Amino acid sequence: MLDVRKVREQFPILHQEVNGAPLVYLDNAATSQKPLQVTEALEDYYRRYNSNVHRGVHTLSNVATDAYEGARDKVQSFINAGKREEIVFTRGTTTAINTVAASFGRANVQEGDEIVLTPMEHHSNLIPWQQLAKATGAVLKYIPLQPDGTVSVESARSTISERTKIVTMVHVSNVFGTMNPVKEVAQIAHENGAVMVVDGAQSTPHKKVDVQDLNCDFFAFSAHKMCGPTGIGVLYGKKRLLEDMEPFEFGGEMIDEVGLYDATWKEVPYKFEGGTPIIAGAIGLNAAIDFLNEIGLDDIKTHEQQLAKYAMDELASYDDIEVYGPPADERAGIVTFNIHDVHPHDTATVLDTKGVAIRAGHHCARPLMNWLDVAATARASFYLYNTEEDVDAFVDALVTTKEYFGDVYAE
Ligand code: PMP
Repeated sequence: MLDVRKVREQFPILHQEVNGAPLVYLDNAATSQKPLQVTEALEDYYRRYNSNVHRGVHTLSNVATDAYEGARDKVQSFINAGKREEIVFTRGTTTAINTVAASFGRANVQEGDEIVLTPMEHHSNLIPWQQLAKATGAVLKYIPLQPDGTVSVESARSTISERTKIVTMVHVSNVFGTMNPVKEVAQIAHENGAVMVVDGAQSTPHKKVDVQDLNCDFFAFSAHKMCGPTGIGVLYGKKRLLEDMEPFEFGGEMIDEVGLYDATWKEVPYKFEGGTPIIAGAIGLNAAIDFLNEIGLDDIKTHEQQLAKYAMDELASYDDIEVYGPPADERAGIVTFNIHDVHPHDTATVLDTKGVAIRAGHHCARPLMNWLDVAATARASFYLYNTEEDVDAFVDALVTTKEYFGDVYAE
């Protein structure tokens, strides 16, 4: 079982007051906090062996190269990729998906082909496909959601056809916390000759991911949501697919031969890592993976689900609070809700005065807000360092919010 008290010792940022109250950080789906293990690894790199990688003959450069490439090995085993060349470092999930849409998409999608996705996609896994469809004349097709906001394998099956070239889906929704059946959908995609692209931004930080078991073709995630630094993420791609793709960015580091009028590329993954790579980011990500592995992703997942269930049970006693999405045992630690007649921005603002940090808005998922028929929602998202006391403070602050706005409307 997860020892939250011990975990919290790794996060000095949590031990502060915000607006006169102890900080309760429930905006983890936006970005997580970073443990000392990660900030110290970053500091160690900058203090002891900061250097550019791959080209150096000198000692510091070799140490930095080993650390950077060691991070690739760590990521490979973390998501159980078959080969280290299948791990491409990117700026984050967004860049990883854009790379697939631009590079694989432009080469393989033609007019009349279909790209299948869901209405619950984050804009990062929606707009790149819209742009690809516009550029190629392909058609976007949406798998309809079930009334509780989940994706059924049967609806996926009836949406995907032999015209489908790409199927893409968020692994865990950043709004509902729903865990989508990506493994089953990947199989349907393959039966129809399509590739499966998975947005793993919200799954990788919270549960064990095995890309070979999912049998997806591409998988994207960001370090900053899993205790790592901002500015680095990963594109996993099956080697034969990456090999056939053109680079997305051109410049130093990614070339083999260069003449005045032409150039050739390095092998994968390096042809996708143009320019000085995200060295510190990779070192920080490596430390974050060590941190999560030492605690254990199964325990992390159980802990967050318990907190989400506790929060949902508490919220269920208020008729004027609506929670969106499936029951707690079918979701990750994300609770999206609205208080009737209170704008979620007002809810988040009042909570902030009590030291409780949550998110309000459309969560970069406008089509899903339309599906819910709301302009915006409030969202509390949990991580390994949150406690039941955090949930109590959150619920107390919500009650204050309700009372405050109840009085305002009564006047
Ligand atoms: N997909 C999902 C489901 C997300 O929650 C996010 C981040 N909010 C992204 C993609 C984009 O991640 P990033 O901004 O790190 O590129």
